[in-house]
Amino acid sequence: MEMRHPTPQGLWTETGIAAPDVPTLAADCAAETAIIGGGFCGLSAALHLAEAGREAILLEAETVGWGASGRNGGQVIAGLKLDPHEMTAKFGRERGLALHRFGAATTDLVFSLIERFQIRCEAHREGWIQAAHSPRIMAEIAARAADLAAQGEQVELLDRERMAALLGTDFYRGGMLDRRSGMVQPYSYARGLAAAALAAGARIFAGTCVTHLEREGTRWRLRTPQGSVTADQVLIATNGYTGDLHPALRPAMIVVQSYQVATEPLPPALDRTVLPSRLPVSDLMQLGVYFRRDDAGRFIIGGRGSLTERERLDLFEDAAENAYRLYPALREIGFSLRWGGKLALTRDHLPRLVTLEPGLHAAYGCNGRGVALATMLGKLAAERLRGMAHPDLPIATLPPARYPLHALRLPAMMAIAKFRRLRRRFLRG
Ligand SMILES: Cc1cc2nc3c(=O)[nH]c(=O)nc-3n(C[C@H](O)[C@H](O)[C@H](O)COP(=O)(O)OP(=O)(O)OC[C@H]3O[C@@H](n4cnc5c(N)ncnc54)[C@H](O)[C@@H]3O)c2cc1C
Repeated sequence: MEMRHPTPQGLWTETGIAAPDVPTLAADCAAETAIIGGGFCGLSAALHLAEAGREAILLEAETVGWGASGRNGGQVIAGLKLDPHEMTAKFGRERGLALHRFGAATTDLVFSLIERFQIRCEAHREGWIQAAHSPRIMAEIAARAADLAAQGEQVELLDRERMAALLGTDFYRGGMLDRRSGMVQPYSYARGLAAAALAAGARIFAGTCVTHLEREGTRWRLRTPQGSVTADQVLIATNGYTGDLHPALRPAMIVVQSYQVATEPLPPALDRTVLPSRLPVSDLMQLGVYFRRDDAGRFIIGGRGSLTERERLDLFEDAAENAYRLYPALREIGFSLRWGGKLALTRDHLPRLVTLEPGLHAAYGCNGRGVALATMLGKLAAERLRGMAHPDLPIATLPPARYPLHALRLPAMMAIAKFRRLRRRFLRG
């Protein structure tokens, strides 16, 4: 398959709004707060700090939205990976429900920011579908829908016929439509957040990689090749791109790659039959894929990716093959764009806001749900940097979820993933 591979952000570079003009750090400077990482989390933190009247400096190694935030599927999904009953079982009724409400409010935050700052990012809020292929998964999804509905959330079950009508494929037995959710063009959303943060008074420096964190009395000095920034309170918002910035963070997360491929805008016959509802869909159980259309009518599909940092060309082929299983007619036009990025998983599937050392905080681990959740996590982190505590919110009080035997875990996960891929190929025939 012949594919263009123009930039790390793939399709989103071609259709994204212009990036705000931001300089590279050129001299030492100081502020009350500093943020490392210009994805949704860091940008949201900078925006909310600036709106609260705090001096905020954000340092981004590349350009704003360069990491997962400029590369993802753009599915704006409400909630955390755990269902309400799992959270109440884990943390007790009051704290479990507080966590549920935090997750449920994430999409309201995203769409209200888009509205308030008039961010042109192909935003749609007609819902998101979680698809079930087998009776077992359908039963899981039905239990989830009942659990969410009991909390007053706007979700409904879809039977086989409704799924086929909305998706244009009879691959699925049914699913759940979550009306709180939707989609955006993620790179445009990130760039719009950056423009909003700048307008609120935050300072953003791109092309500025923090190489060392040093404690100086009660302040922190962030060293970069171009100069340093000192601040009272610092947020690390580097997620899957953290590397070795702080020793506590590497064992706290597993970094995985996810890949996407996109067609050109679909011709009229396919436009009417391939995902005609244009709702974003996730099928994390059977095929491990997520798919959607964009405003120009392209079909975009992503998949569970590789556990290595290396680009795996065969996984782009896998994503395309999954699309052909759902919509055989797509073979006629094929996929012309591919790209991928890194995201962070945590052991308990929950994100974290942690204080690593006095004045040094980190927010990470949205487990593939980061468009809405990382935006909310950034807002929460801004409150922490302003001195607020969140004793009732488990993700703000838990220690970093360390993976025991972190170094051994990756090879073990890779072996399991390889086995699953082989089994899928075998079953496919
Ligand atoms: C292919 C893909 C598809 C996805 N699809 C979805 C989806 O459809 N829906 C959903 O909700 N979530 C999705 N996700 C997850 C979501 O994109 C992430 O959870 C979210 O973007 C994380 O945002 P962030 O701000 O925490 O991190 P990032 O956006 O990764 O930003 C981290 C930034 O830190 C910078 N950085 C790193 N080190 C330094 C340093 N030392 N100094 C300065 N800067 C530094 C990096 O350059 C980067 O820009 C997907 C992820 C990927 C990769």
